[in-house]
Amino acid sequence: MISETSPSHPVATALLQADAVVIGGGPAGLMAAQVLTEGGRAVHLFDAMPSVGRKFLLAGKGGLNLTHSEPLDRFVGRYGARRVDMEALLADFGPQALRDWAQGLGIETFVGTSGRVFPTDMKAAPLLRVWLQRLRRPPQGMAPGVQFHMRHRWTGWSPEGHLAFDTAQGPMQVQARAVVLALGGGSWARLGSNGAWVPMLASKGVDVAPLQPSNCGFDVRPGWSEFFSSRFAGQPFKSVAIALTTPTGERFQRKGEFVATATGVEGSLVYAASSYLRDDIARNGSATFHLDLLPDMAPERVLAEVSHPRGSRSLSSHLKSRLHLDGIKSAILHELLPKSVFESPAELAAAIKALPITLQAARPIDEAISSAGGVRFEGMTPALMLQPLPGVFCAGEMLDWEAPTGGYLLQACFASGRRAGQGALRYLDAQS
Ligand SMILES: Cc1cc2nc3c(=O)[nH]c(=O)nc-3n(C[C@H](O)[C@H](O)[C@H](O)COP(=O)(O)OP(=O)(O)OC[C@H]3O[C@@H](n4cnc5c(N)ncnc54)[C@H](O)[C@@H]3O)c2cc1C
Repeated sequence: MISETSPSHPVATALLQADAVVIGGGPAGLMAAQVLTEGGRAVHLFDAMPSVGRKFLLAGKGGLNLTHSEPLDRFVGRYGARRVDMEALLADFGPQALRDWAQGLGIETFVGTSGRVFPTDMKAAPLLRVWLQRLRRPPQGMAPGVQFHMRHRWTGWSPEGHLAFDTAQGPMQVQARAVVLALGGGSWARLGSNGAWVPMLASKGVDVAPLQPSNCGFDVRPGWSEFFSSRFAGQPFKSVAIALTTPTGERFQRKGEFVATATGVEGSLVYAASSYLRDDIARNGSATFHLDLLPDMAPERVLAEVSHPRGSRSLSSHLKSRLHLDGIKSAILHELLPKSVFESPAELAAAIKALPITLQAARPIDEAISSAGGVRFEGMTPALMLQPLPGVFCAGEMLDWEAPTGGYLLQACFASGRRAGQGALRYLDAQS
């Protein structure tokens, strides 16, 4: 059906009438589309990019950590302040349900030594390929397959309340009875999720927390020296631990590894602490964590080794031979400590166990693995329908939760996509 937008805009605007519309073809949107199709609804899925699942495919480059095998009580604790909201979603579609779902697509999973769950081939492309085939051609007796509309960028609502899209063929409008928005967060904009939806929803009275970087790197204060940056950017700190005090006064302490960058630090151990560090910077202008360069060695032993007579040997070769401290671990001591500390075994040993590293800023959101902030649960029904916009549901990273890496991100996207799809299905059923 073709309609004229207005006499002053004589551009012909295509108008599509649809039962169920999903906007955003990441894991959350695809899961919502699956639920709607299984419920017998004809689904139109729109995405701004030339193909769906681009961030999901990128996640596959790192092994595709689908979920985690730890007990559910520990699992839901990873969502911090959003624990209760996520617990409700994971009760319906938790880690085992996700593994069963993957198996239903013919993708076996395994639990790694860290407890993280991966597909056996550690890739996203085979899973996505089978999933899309099923969505396009569901088993007989179900609704027709999902119709994919690529290169359709959603731009908001028309004055008549239709969904408005920019397409290569010109503007298009869709009159939908139920909509699931699964537009992603604000990181890696080149993969499609650019956070442009924030003002669109906020202008409709939707309660949206500002998007912020999560699982992100940081710049150190005052910046690395030219020597350290040029020699050690890209090098890992392996088998170290970091410690900090959380805003609620709890001690955060974890072992692992991270990487020095040209201007600061990034990597899994830093990501795990990133929400505390980011919030501390927002409150105080900077944040400090303590780096333990030898977490497997007691402080007394470190002091004994540092104090051991070294004869004519340089301090560097002494630390290398007695404590295996060399390379980047030795360099960061020289980078951050005044010379006087190297003359005091007690001070040096203390610094090796708790070297303060001060951060001045989170790296830009576009570089982050994920984003925090988004549509607040308080403004949605338990079915994830937006209270100010009946018939419009939200899912995935665009919701206001955050979690560390470890499979918690995709699990939340799948579970919320499922919940929003079910909500849209019930909404449509109630109307017909
Ligand atoms: C490098 C990297 C590695 C990762 N690895 C993992 C991992 O191993 N495990 C894990 O749990 N998580 C991982 N993640 C995070 C995970 O990939 C995301 O949390 C997840 O993809 C978010 O899913 P989503 O469906 O909410 O949004 P997205 O996957 O971002 O999809 C949103 C979709 O909406 C579309 N869209 C946005 N705006 C519009 C618009 N206006 N009109 C039309 N379409 C629009 C986009 O084009 C996109 O296709 C990783 C992320 C990155 C960057």
